[in-house]
Amino acid sequence: MLPGLLEKLGEPASSKDNRIGFRIRTLPGQGHEVILISAETLPELSLRSLDEGTTGNFVNQCPHCGKRSAYRHEKSSSTLTLDCPACGRTVRLLGRDTKGNYHDASAFLIPSPYPTVAPGTDPLDAMISIWQAAVKRCQYAGDGHNDDEPADFWQTPRQTLVKGMGDCEDSALLLTDWMLSNDVPARMALGTADGGGHAWCIVKVDQTDYLLESTNRNPDLDNLPAVNRNDGYAPTSLIDRDALYVRADPAKPFDGDYWSPVKWIRIPNAKPAAPAKAPKIREADAALQRRTS
Ligand SMILES: [Zn+2]
Repeated sequence: MLPGLLEKLGEPASSKDNRIGFRIRTLPGQGHEVILISAETLPELSLRSLDEGTTGNFVNQCPHCGKRSAYRHEKSSSTLTLDCPACGRTVRLLGRDTKGNYHDASAFLIPSPYPTVAPGTDPLDAMISIWQAAVKRCQYAGDGHNDDEPADFWQTPRQTLVKGMGDCEDSALLLTDWMLSNDVPARMALGTADGGGHAWCIVKVDQTDYLLESTNRNPDLDNLPAVNRNDGYAPTSLIDRDALYVRADPAKPFDGDYWSPVKWIRIPNAKPAAPAKAPKIREADAALQRRTS
């Protein structure tokens, strides 16, 4: 029986099937039992494999604790957050663009041709003017308002300016990047507000942190919203143009501090890969190629 069985087990069940062993047991009076262990090698996480949708399963190494973990991804959401199962910290935050492709969240903070507001004013007046201008230029609309686009996606600030509408991520990206373009220190926050998923903008002016809602078109300028630890907002990630910031201790309740380098671990953007160098052909090899071709 064994040669026939070995031949049968030698055929992979699928292209990803990496069989690693089997065991045969003879049961008294009932023939044989075969236990086969089949394993699949998961690919490393790459934006390309996510975009192509060739796999929903992949492995990724945690930059915090160094453990490698397997992840499963269902391509149904515009935001993909990878949390390390070993240490609980966020590893990566990706958003899906209007073409359906994933990018690191901070890659959406692209400087755009913002209308000039409040030129030459002090930082607080600049913050107020930009806030007013941004909320006026972005009507709130849930995703899926255009048949040519995926049902759920992130817009760049320029796309939001052109369309004049977007959801909370789109308007928070616009507001945050507009602030950054005017040298006002700002971060976009993602997390929950009163328990529901949300995105908003945090600005620091004159040592005060302001929590700016980008979805409220009529901000109350007489009562500027300074950050309050009991305001119901709980960020899990922050972004600026250069980095993703994740909570060092996500199990602890949020204490209202959006800037501490101890409480927020900075994960800088990956540097663009160096262009591949063309392989050098040695003179002798080139001469050989010429002779033989
Ligand atoms: Zn980890």
